[in-house]
Amino acid sequence: MPGSLEAILRPRSLAVVGASSRAESLSGRLLGNLVAAGFTGAVYPINPRAETTGPFKCYPSLRAVPEALDLAVVMVPKAAVLGTIDECLEVGVKGVVVITAGFREAGKEGAEAERRVLERVRGAGIRMIGPNCMGLINTDPDVRMDASFTPAPALPGNVAFASHSGALGVAVLEAAREVGLGFSQFVSLGNSADVDVTELLEVWEHHDGTRAIMLYLEALPSPQRFLELASRIVRSKPIVVFKGGRTVAGQRAASSHTGALAAGDTAVDALLAQTGVTHARTLEEMFNLALAFSSAPPPRGRRVAVVTNAGGPAIAATDALADHGLTLATFSKATEDALRGFLPPEAAVGNPVDMLPSATPDNFRQAIELALADPGVDAALTITVTPIMVTPLQIAGGIAAARPPADKPVLSVFMTASRFFPEAHGIGGLPPLFRYPEAAVEALAGLAAHGERMTRSVAEPAPVMKRSAAIERARGGYLSPQDAFALVEEAGIPVAPWRAIATRAELARAGRALGYPLVLKAFGDKLVHKSEAGAVAVGLADETAAAAAFEAMVGRLAESDIEADGFLVQRHVCGGREAIIGITRDPAVGPLVMVGMGGVAVEVWRDASFRVAPITARDADEMLGELKGVRLLGPFRGQPAGDRAALKQALLRLAALAAAHPEIVECDINPLLVMDEGNGCVAVDVRIRVGG
Ligand code: ADP
Ligand code: MG
Repeated sequence: MPGSLEAILRPRSLAVVGASSRAESLSGRLLGNLVAAGFTGAVYPINPRAETTGPFKCYPSLRAVPEALDLAVVMVPKAAVLGTIDECLEVGVKGVVVITAGFREAGKEGAEAERRVLERVRGAGIRMIGPNCMGLINTDPDVRMDASFTPAPALPGNVAFASHSGALGVAVLEAAREVGLGFSQFVSLGNSADVDVTELLEVWEHHDGTRAIMLYLEALPSPQRFLELASRIVRSKPIVVFKGGRTVAGQRAASSHTGALAAGDTAVDALLAQTGVTHARTLEEMFNLALAFSSAPPPRGRRVAVVTNAGGPAIAATDALADHGLTLATFSKATEDALRGFLPPEAAVGNPVDMLPSATPDNFRQAIELALADPGVDAALTITVTPIMVTPLQIAGGIAAARPPADKPVLSVFMTASRFFPEAHGIGGLPPLFRYPEAAVEALAGLAAHGERMTRSVAEPAPVMKRSAAIERARGGYLSPQDAFALVEEAGIPVAPWRAIATRAELARAGRALGYPLVLKAFGDKLVHKSEAGAVAVGLADETAAAAAFEAMVGRLAESDIEADGFLVQRHVCGGREAIIGITRDPAVGPLVMVGMGGVAVEVWRDASFRVAPITARDADEMLGELKGVRLLGPFRGQPAGDRAALKQALLRLAALAAAHPEIVECDINPLLVMDEGNGCVAVDVRIRVGG
């Protein structure tokens, strides 16, 4: 068990090794930030060639420092880092933050240097942030440490923020000031050689001063650990993740539909979806969500009251509510009467409550309180355009004075001059502020989803499958169709009855055993997409038709010089809807399971959902819910509903198969025919490839 991060996050003394005497240098800026933040511990700049830097006395070496050091911030040139680490260990430093760059990010030599540094650090049992990072911040009044280069100090607050990109992290801190977002801690992780994001999650999970966690990720070094931890933490604290574009996993062998659909960041996206973290798609969304989480409670439901002094933006908000699965609440008659009691007769007292441009600060306060007292309302959104008679700041004061129930969030939009915002941040008790209704609604939807995750029961465990003896016998490459069908059946997924045949006589016997209509297929390593090669004949009504199809197929294959390994006859399954389920393997994340609708067309629509196997029944439900094509399974244009429950079961079982057999590198069941409700589903085409 590695040592704790206490010495790094809450040091009582720190040295800055490689401190320049120039204020405009990086180290000068870091020292300046330490002073400006009012660091409560002792600071020891190390510089053998200077007497002082800024207000500090310099020390020629770590050995010359008169007290025990908790933390060393290392900013020496790359070649001197290892020596500095040795000196840190010699004097008993408990943690290091290595800002110096030129390590793993710079190529092979750098990676080797990083490995040596890590070896020293681990060997001594101390902890390290970085290398190649931009420092850290702790705004706790007992610590007040800003050991970073941020040009504008972070506002104190309750959001903990870890960033893989140092520069972006610092830029985010600066921008966060503008929206009034404050931080408990900030850690620039750099190359995460020792301390990685999962360890910070462990610390922040139990940190009282942290209400929400915000992550800018470019990589997930320990995906399974992240999955486990984040899934647990989101049950109490929200985690907002924005993912930089560098997580693309290595090229996957994409001879399967599943593999082709899993290109790019699919594995990480799937993993994030599974944990229940709030995945922001843009930096702006990350801010908006963090802002909402930092100062508003998650609502208990999705019914929203809109309180406004302008009709137009309220309509935009109403549309946005629908887009995000939120609803415009219906007020009780009592609520409407109470609103009518103090609003002018021209005001609209239904939802949205349009109080007209003349609305006063107190109108806003009263309307918020009344709307949120209605048991049919879970949250309120206020929208203010620049008012007449009063200032936006006065309206903000009215909103801040409202006393809503503790479990009903208020989010406020101000469509007014931008100078309003920095001034408004000074008003105590103000809800999170947004410039546009859409942004506020997006954040509110994030709050609602988090509320649902907090209150839902723990998912029942994922089903497991015993290892199949068949797969242990398999060599690398594609399983024969016989083995593939048998394995899928062993996993508990129904397959269409089939026989392998080689001659016309066997075909006739198989026909009598299986019953008509039949499907005839040739198989072989060259026959990846059988129907394209004329190797699938469906709807063969009787023995004569089957025999003719057989002769024709043999002739076609001979003509195009394709040698089939054999033939398969299958019961023709009538009337199913085509779904695809599959397995692919991500080198970092592990086995992924996929579901899509539309059989072959799945690659056209790219309408597929992925998770990391194994999955729970809830994961399977969420996966189906993500598919646009899932409506094909509902009652649809006169068709009865499809057997969604059976599809879900098949998906669960396929995930169990994937989890139990790491040697399966890809599997496509395409199509899985989903029958009408109550009639199950059945696999008619299975391809499985196992690793060497
Ligand atoms: P491939 O995907 O290699 O071209 P398939 O075995 O999937 O070959 O067959 C092609 C198509 O034929 C399927 O997508 C499906 O529409 C239809 N089909 C195949 N087998 C059956 C079957 N047993 N019952 C009904 N339709 C079938
Ligand atoms: Mg197929």
